Amino acid sequence: MKTIREAQEIILGHTRRLEAETVPLEEALGRVLAEDVASNRNHPPYDISAMDGYAVRSEDIESASRKEPVVLEVVDDIRAGAEPACDVKSGQASRIMTGAPVPAGADTVIRVEDTDCDEKRVKIFVPAREGANIRRLGENLRKGERVLKSGTEIGPAEVGILAMVKKAKVNVYRRPRVAILSTGDELEGLDEPLDERKIPDANSYTVMAELQAIGVEPVLLGIARDTRESLEEKLRQGLGYDALIVSGGVSVGHHDFVRPTLAALGIQMHFWRVAIRPGHPFAFGTGKDILVFALPGNPVSSMVCCEQFVIPAMRRMLGAKKLFRRTVSATLAEDVKDKKGRIHFMRVVLEQSDGGLVARLAGSQGSGILMSMVNADGLLIMPAECELHCKGTPVVVQLLHHTPFQEEPGITTEGKTGHE
Ligand code: AMP
Ligand code: MG
Repeated sequence: MKTIREAQEIILGHTRRLEAETVPLEEALGRVLAEDVASNRNHPPYDISAMDGYAVRSEDIESASRKEPVVLEVVDDIRAGAEPACDVKSGQASRIMTGAPVPAGADTVIRVEDTDCDEKRVKIFVPAREGANIRRLGENLRKGERVLKSGTEIGPAEVGILAMVKKAKVNVYRRPRVAILSTGDELEGLDEPLDERKIPDANSYTVMAELQAIGVEPVLLGIARDTRESLEEKLRQGLGYDALIVSGGVSVGHHDFVRPTLAALGIQMHFWRVAIRPGHPFAFGTGKDILVFALPGNPVSSMVCCEQFVIPAMRRMLGAKKLFRRTVSATLAEDVKDKKGRIHFMRVVLEQSDGGLVARLAGSQGSGILMSMVNADGLLIMPAECELHCKGTPVVVQLLHHTPFQEEPGITTEGKTGHE
């Protein structure tokens, strides 16, 4: 039996990131950059105003106040996108819009709210230091400088930068195509009529969704029955993909043929069984250019194994550097009993309290109770040697994918957050 870390290391030891491909920028979100990207321009292209106001010489307005404003002659009106018509000399000001180029001679911009003006003259009410309200040439992007590194995950801000440097096509790592197969005589497919004595196939869909959520392309192969013939036919179909994920039929039951059938198809099985709960019958194998994950059949077990073993491997194939789900510290909200011997991933709800996050069990923890995953924010990692965790104990929780969101806006009209 492997420990979770041994299992992950074996899997990642066999996992390579996929080759690069070129995609239109519109499809780059969530992908990983396979090239360094340099800026082809300075941004801003010249010193620009950060405010609507007046471009002036700071030395002219040192004494300015509400009571005794400095009066300057208005010599120009510079719009965004236009060129200044003249320089600003001592005693002068140019009206300037946000984004417009700062004229020569001026070294600061006074916002319109701190001025009063008629057509020809402006009263300045405040002094300003040199450079105030000016965005400097190249302060965002410098021509020729690398702005995004190969290996960067592309989020909305990266998409914006890529657009700014005119990368209409982007080199990214290819997304894995992954076949998903469920096994079991008792299973009923989504497209089959309801038979109340059958077990609906959940795993095909939870695994499909786990993959979709991280930008992997799933292909559903359906259900194989618990015979070598049926399994062989379906597993063979799965061998043409970057990975194959099978669930069920991997335990010690009399009709659990998944491992021998995979071996018969030339898949080298690297291990079977990991010291985790739920999910210990998990197995992993490889063939030529394919990873094979055999998940236990119970829906929670298969999801937990997917989270611990499949997701990190898929993230590596996608070219990502951060392979593992984030963990956070929390405090137990109740006593939790456990069996010794295996690391236990318990489904928990996280709540914010004054002392930080608190974790509470998300209902019944049976490995067939998929509703515990529905209700959970994360998986509490209960160490193998632990039998009892008392209320108030600090614990670590691995977050599930939807957890960056919350119901409350977290901010009041006055801008208070409740954490002050
Ligand atoms: P197995 O690993 O094949 O022994 O299955 C363990 C348990 O998980 C059994 O109760 C199965 O009915 C159930 N199970 C197996 N595959 C699925 C599936 N695709 N969807 C839902 N439950 C399943
Ligand atoms: Mg079965």
